[in-house]
Amino acid sequence: MCPSCAGHHKAQPVEDTTELGWTPGVPEPEDPLRWGDKFPKGAAENLRNTQLRRNLRYATHKIRDKRNDRVAEMPDWEELRDAASAIKHQTMSNLPELLEEMERNVQARGGIVHWARDAKEANEIIHQILVEKQVDEVVKVKSMVTQEIGMNKYLADRGIKAWETDLAEMIVQLSEDMPSHIVVPAIHRNRAEIRAIFANRMDDAPADLSTDPRTLAMAARAHLRKKFLSAKVAISGSNMMIAESGTLTVFESEGNGRMCLTLPETLISVVGIEKMVPTFKDAEVFAQLLPRSATGERMNPYTTFWTGVTEGDGPQEFHLVLLDNGRSKALADEIGREALHCIRCGACMNVCPVYEHVGGHAYGSVYPGPIGAILTPQLTDSMDRHDPNSALPFASSLCGACYEACPVKIDIPTNLVRLRQRVTDANRGGIPDMWDVAMAATSPVMASGKAFDAAGRAAKLGRIVAGKKQRIGALPYPASMWTGARDIPAPPAQNFRQWWKKHEEEK
Ligand code: SF4
Repeated sequence: MCPSCAGHHKAQPVEDTTELGWTPGVPEPEDPLRWGDKFPKGAAENLRNTQLRRNLRYATHKIRDKRNDRVAEMPDWEELRDAASAIKHQTMSNLPELLEEMERNVQARGGIVHWARDAKEANEIIHQILVEKQVDEVVKVKSMVTQEIGMNKYLADRGIKAWETDLAEMIVQLSEDMPSHIVVPAIHRNRAEIRAIFANRMDDAPADLSTDPRTLAMAARAHLRKKFLSAKVAISGSNMMIAESGTLTVFESEGNGRMCLTLPETLISVVGIEKMVPTFKDAEVFAQLLPRSATGERMNPYTTFWTGVTEGDGPQEFHLVLLDNGRSKALADEIGREALHCIRCGACMNVCPVYEHVGGHAYGSVYPGPIGAILTPQLTDSMDRHDPNSALPFASSLCGACYEACPVKIDIPTNLVRLRQRVTDANRGGIPDMWDVAMAATSPVMASGKAFDAAGRAAKLGRIVAGKKQRIGALPYPASMWTGARDIPAPPAQNFRQWWKKHEEEK
């Protein structure tokens, strides 16, 4: 086992509670960036779950269509993407200076800044503040970074309950599950499942709860209101930090974030160091791109900006925890650092054919889909082939849809190919496996035009094996490693060279 996997937690299958009306998902793991088996195994399992696939298809297509409508309204969409990409490149080139500027400005406005090297340090800092405040519960704004550090579990193990107040996060929390999408964490659930989760797990759920979305939202609202009014501390992430003023922002749709950010006496914001823009003017670009890309809205219904503390208004104590957790290492990689440009809109997931079929849990990380496939292995430095995260760069068809959808123009396909190369290079040597033997056998054929042409002609014989169905479903070992999971279409009657020759002759 590679050192990076030592002690990694395998999610245990939980008892089947289907009779409750919902199927258990993934229980909170020890390491939220690395859980479960390698992607192919997780994907194969999820592919068998037809309900999950139906839920995913419905939801991703719905958000995708909404996003397309909102993008079509913007004549300068491409210029905005270019601007966002340029701002992010500039930000990453000056990140150390910008972080120091941010720290100075937060402190100048009465905030307290903490630096956390990793998840453990971040959790310890947060816990220490809560111990000083003598609280045993906090309210939370939806935040991927608190998921990344496993904060809820860390606090729960120490007797402090962190209440998720975002509706989808609350569904995930009540069902003791993990999020499966970065914007829509409960995308793998449908209305009937949500009703069942509320009915079984929400202590004050109304007896006549139906599957009507409004009724479900009202039940959640009533449940959460008591928490908002009693909590003395709130914990949030931030969509963007603005260095020139020390400002933080949260873009959200439900208003739960605004309640958390204004009602409690103390606010703790945990933010990845990459969530930075230099100026307010830069924030304007992202304010246009983010809501359209994430939820297909022109603007988020609630956009909150806060800077330090203001006497008599909002939280009177503000802590900013700046989290590294592998980001500096990713930043040092000239190409890989592009993954840090991500504004977590989720658009790449909604268009990804792989994600749509297997769902977020198959990736074994809180960051699933195309961005997760390049971000997670870098954050966890997973190039060893025994590490489950080393399989993630291969979890893609390289169709390029993610690049087209990304509002900050992250070239995910190129990054995937480059990471594949890094994983392959890192694992050279040792005893060759069947793939190594197969690749070594085919490379002389691929390298010679003549040999490739001859192989193409010989492959035509496969049409006889394929028979009427024109599909080859099972081949003997070692080819069974391929056909065990997929059919091979019959080879074409004519290869490209033959077609070209004929075409030229007929001209
Ligand atoms: S990679 Fe791009 S599309 Fe995907 S979540 Fe990040 S910003 Fe959005």
